[in-house]
Amino acid sequence: MKIYEKMTAPARMAEDLAFPRRCPVCDRPVRPFGALVCPFCEGMLQKVQAPFCRRCGKQLLSAAENLCRDCRMLPHVFERGRTVFTYHSAAGGIFRFKYKGRQEYGTYYGRCMAGKLCEAAGGPSRMPDYLVPVPVSAHRLRTRGYNQALVLAREISRQTGIPVLDDALRRVTDTLPMKNMTPAERQNNLKKAFQAFGNDVELNSIMLIDDIYTTGATMDACAQALYRQGACRVCFITLAAGVDSGS
Ligand SMILES: [Zn+2]
Ligand SMILES: [Zn+2]
Repeated sequence: MKIYEKMTAPARMAEDLAFPRRCPVCDRPVRPFGALVCPFCEGMLQKVQAPFCRRCGKQLLSAAENLCRDCRMLPHVFERGRTVFTYHSAAGGIFRFKYKGRQEYGTYYGRCMAGKLCEAAGGPSRMPDYLVPVPVSAHRLRTRGYNQALVLAREISRQTGIPVLDDALRRVTDTLPMKNMTPAERQNNLKKAFQAFGNDVELNSIMLIDDIYTTGATMDACAQALYRQGACRVCFITLAAGVDSGS
């Protein structure tokens, strides 16, 4: 299904009046009213800046290399990706966004990601045809109640007008927890985890949307499924990623 997101400014204001919006950094009601993040708190979030990995977008510590350590060691399936914040500076908020029901942070997060998408595209002709959120398993969706990547994709869509394909990609198998796996083990674990569906993907460029980028195994598995379904280009935007671990 294609979703075109729209919410008018008065509707959002009314929603904020009824439920005071909380800050994605300090979690207190945002001051001043109507803002999405406290001005002071926003300064604590660290934006990824040059030098960053040309492939996955991860923050590099020095400009000596073009690619991060993971990208030098392991070839990727996706074309390229960009990320908004360094993980450690945004970790607390992302945890509450995913596990504590703070869906409302998605408005601020999604707007930051939309800005990154426009900056990375470098012009209207390079904008993707569709946004595709990375799906979570049915089990996780049941326990969490929502897919945080879809929340982000919807806000990016509101800002950019690019439609969301929310059922183009499905997670078909539950996978093992990957925390202690090497990048190669992660890739193997996810090989058949995703499947792409529908005709909308074919010959179109896709922007995958997710909250966190780690080694790229999830993005590669998603990109693989989308290319198999005929996508012509698969890139991604994430909210946060770790800093390059160095050589
Ligand atoms: Zn705050
Ligand atoms: Zn990289």
